[in-house]
Amino acid sequence: MKVTLLGTGTSQGVPVIGCNCEVCRSVDYRDNRLRVSVHLQVNGKSFIIDSGPDFRQQALRERIRTLDALIFTHEHKDHTAGLDDIRAYNFSQHKDMPLYGEERVLEQLKREFAYIFSGVQYPGIPRVDLNPIAEEPFEIEGVEFIPIRVKHYKLPVLGFRVGDFTYITDANFISEEEMDKVRGSKVIVLGALRKEPHISHFSLQEAIDVLTELKPEKAYLTHISHLMGLHHEVEQQLPDFIRLGYDGLQIQL
Ligand SMILES: [Zn+2]
Ligand SMILES: [Zn+2]
Ligand SMILES: [Zn+2]
Repeated sequence: MKVTLLGTGTSQGVPVIGCNCEVCRSVDYRDNRLRVSVHLQVNGKSFIIDSGPDFRQQALRERIRTLDALIFTHEHKDHTAGLDDIRAYNFSQHKDMPLYGEERVLEQLKREFAYIFSGVQYPGIPRVDLNPIAEEPFEIEGVEFIPIRVKHYKLPVLGFRVGDFTYITDANFISEEEMDKVRGSKVIVLGALRKEPHISHFSLQEAIDVLTELKPEKAYLTHISHLMGLHHEVEQQLPDFIRLGYDGLQIQL
């Protein structure tokens, strides 16, 4: 399995429009963060989790030639805004794009992208095939996804475990029962917004505490704000097995 971090930034991305802080001015490429998304290549199949506003740019940058399904963690705009651009795969693959998400998330997609779901199939609009998921494991093209239920303040969100890899972005609470589903993962990608506490995202220390309990071989943080600080400075303060993610980072499992 090969995992590529397509984006590692919080909802505004980094740099933030109009901001002149040292992170937003940084020339280190690792301080440039598109909105959060990940590409999984498993057994010759290609999956993306979340299609944020930077979806097109990410698919081009990583030369993602085929896409077998798009899976959603939750309905926030920084995770869904790029959905229209799956049209490219409709054209090249000559089929509807399978979308996977909780019922509530799929309903939100229907409202926000009403033209996709209207009875009038205007030529050229995205063609999708909706697949509701819940907390039970599901399979796509023979690959098993285990949903991990997490809380993003009050909003129930899903993370996913695929084999030895677990991906959790927007969260600030994981129950013991769900922690058990993650345990044993060799690599974990976990959201950590900034150093200061936040109402709906793990802070850096909270994420370190979760990962220290789970003890994967390697962990990467994602969904990072400009308030986290400079990539190279923050990394020096982390335990060895935890690194900050950055856009384009590839993980081989
Ligand atoms: Zn988010
Ligand atoms: Zn800034
Ligand atoms: Zn969110």
